[in-house]
Amino acid sequence: MSGPACGLAALLAGAPPPPAPAAEESVETEHFAVSWPAGDDLSAAAGDAAEALEAAWTALVDEGGWPPPPGMDAGPQPVRLDPELDGTGLTWMDEVDGVERPVIALDPAWDAHPDFFAELAAHEFVHALQYGLRDPGAAVGAIDEETWCWEASAEWGAAGALDAGAVVAEQSAAYAERPEARYTELDGGHAYGMFLLHAWIEEAVGGPEALRDLWLLAAGRPDSAWDAILAEQHGVSAGALWAGFSAAYGNRQLADNALYAIPASEAAVPDGAAGSLAYLGTRYYDVDVAEARIAPEGAVIVSGLAGAAGEGETLLARGGTRVAVTGLDPDGADYVLHVERRVRRPGDPEDRSAGNGLCAATAPARGPLAWALAWLVAARRRRLQRPRRG
Ligand SMILES: [Zn+2]
Repeated sequence: MSGPACGLAALLAGAPPPPAPAAEESVETEHFAVSWPAGDDLSAAAGDAAEALEAAWTALVDEGGWPPPPGMDAGPQPVRLDPELDGTGLTWMDEVDGVERPVIALDPAWDAHPDFFAELAAHEFVHALQYGLRDPGAAVGAIDEETWCWEASAEWGAAGALDAGAVVAEQSAAYAERPEARYTELDGGHAYGMFLLHAWIEEAVGGPEALRDLWLLAAGRPDSAWDAILAEQHGVSAGALWAGFSAAYGNRQLADNALYAIPASEAAVPDGAAGSLAYLGTRYYDVDVAEARIAPEGAVIVSGLAGAAGEGETLLARGGTRVAVTGLDPDGADYVLHVERRVRRPGDPEDRSAGNGLCAATAPARGPLAWALAWLVAARRRRLQRPRRG
């Protein structure tokens, strides 16, 4: 099963929305009016879509505290089943009976795959909610700077709304194939796979309402890009946030890790390992010795299970784990890793020089260490059990 080919990115880049059908049949539920071209036998698909959409409404609006989509005073949310749709689904702002509001379109052919069709409907409904909080046309910078978070958020929002974690998990492969790409990457479904960032934030840093709160915060930050909004929400730099996510994901620490594709890594972390990384892109290295002290040179942050280190600091990483190197420069960054590799032999005395044996960076808390501290504090104040997905 391929992932959703939601047409949002193309739409925001200037593609026209699909035309309204001339004549339609429809079914109405409490919050949705699902219509389809007259003469097509799509009542079953309409019923399935409405059921999924009402479930998403209950979870996200009634229980989750998301503001309803704009235009609800004028009647139920319009949803069109469009067999001619280019892509699996699409949501756009349109004038309906004189009211500017979101319109959701779904390709009913996907009703043959019920779990995916339900998740698709919920994904598009999240877009309808997003339009009430943010105008993508007013986004700063390149449109992909804005779009990636719409898609990543729609995937994670749908996962939580419908307990559709297993369906959404398939998107992890699109990120795992290219974690080194810039975080705004749209090609290849990368942005859908970025739901993983939201999953980690919810589990480790922000709690179960973090996604909604991100969008509520973003509503008041129309001139800010997502890296800055995420940093503001969690009180750390975007680089530190990504470093924490990357270390946890690469080391299989996410709650649903068994469902997720895991990114490829370099098989070893040799002294002098070098490369270049896009902004908030990540490359992984396996610690193939008993332990490695890693001092990065360049605008990157290196993170592992127990901490992180930027330029001028050293991370101690244990064998059998992975370290993540994440780019911090918006224009891309070259880096070199200075690595002291220790192969512990039988009979070696235990080396106590690394303090607690977790992180050798012992400078006062600042920069990346502030992140490590924030991470620990957040873990302590974790309020609720993580919801089981899938
Ligand atoms: Zn989408």
